[in-house]
Amino acid sequence: MSYDWQATLVLLATLIGASMVGNFLTRRIRAFDGMRDINRAEDSQKLAQEKYPPIVAANRKLGGITNLVFYAAVVPFIITINPQPLWKIAVDIVIILMVYDFFYYLTHRFLFHGKGYFRRVHALHHQARKPTHIDAFYVHPLETFIGISLFMGSAALLGLFIGPFHIASLAVAVLVFQNLNIINHCHIRMDSFPGKTLSWISVKHANHHKDMHQGNYSTITLLYDKVFGTLV
Ligand SMILES: [Zn+2]
Ligand SMILES: [Zn+2]
Repeated sequence: MSYDWQATLVLLATLIGASMVGNFLTRRIRAFDGMRDINRAEDSQKLAQEKYPPIVAANRKLGGITNLVFYAAVVPFIITINPQPLWKIAVDIVIILMVYDFFYYLTHRFLFHGKGYFRRVHALHHQARKPTHIDAFYVHPLETFIGISLFMGSAALLGLFIGPFHIASLAVAVLVFQNLNIINHCHIRMDSFPGKTLSWISVKHANHHKDMHQGNYSTITLLYDKVFGTLV
C-alpha cells in the first residue's frame, strides 16, 4: 500500500472540473429553468428565517473539514493512476456506492429514526416538511460528519480488499454520492427525460420528509428499501 498524493491531486482537480461543468450545464439547460426558479424562491424564503443560515454555514464548514481529512488521510492509500480495465472501473463504482448505501440505510433507519440514538440530531433535518435545494445543507453538523465518514469508511474498507481504485472510479463514486444527496432535496416535478428520473428521486425523498415515520432510508438507489420493505 502506498501514499499516492499525485493521484489524489488529479482526483481533486477532476472533481473541481466536473463540478464546474455540472454547474454551468444546469444553469444553461432551459428545461430546468422553471424548477430552478421554484427552488430559488423557496430557498430564499427559508434563508430569511433566523434558524437556516447558521446551520447551513456550520454544516458546510464541518463538511469541508471532514472532506479535507478524507483526501489527506484516506484517499491517497486507496487510489491509483495506473490504468485499469474499464470493467474493473465500472464494477468498483457500483460496489463502493452500494456498500456505502447499505451502511447508510442501516444508520438512517435504526440510528436516525425509530428509537435511534441520533434521532434528535436527525430531527433537525426533518424540520423541512417540503424540502428544496437548501435543505440538502440544513443538516446538523454531526449528521454531516457521520454521513461523510460512512462514505469514506466504506471506501477505505473496500480499498483494503479490492483496491487500489482508479481515479475514475473514485471520481464517479464521489460525484454520485455528493450530487444525489443534493438532487433528492431539490423540488423537481418534470414529465420528460431526464426530468422524469430526477422527479422520481425528488418525490421519493420528499415522501421521506413528510414525517419521521416514513420509509425511503437509502440515498443512492432505494434498492435496500425495496429489499427490506420500507419503500414508500
Ligand atoms: Zn430521515
Ligand atoms: Zn433529506
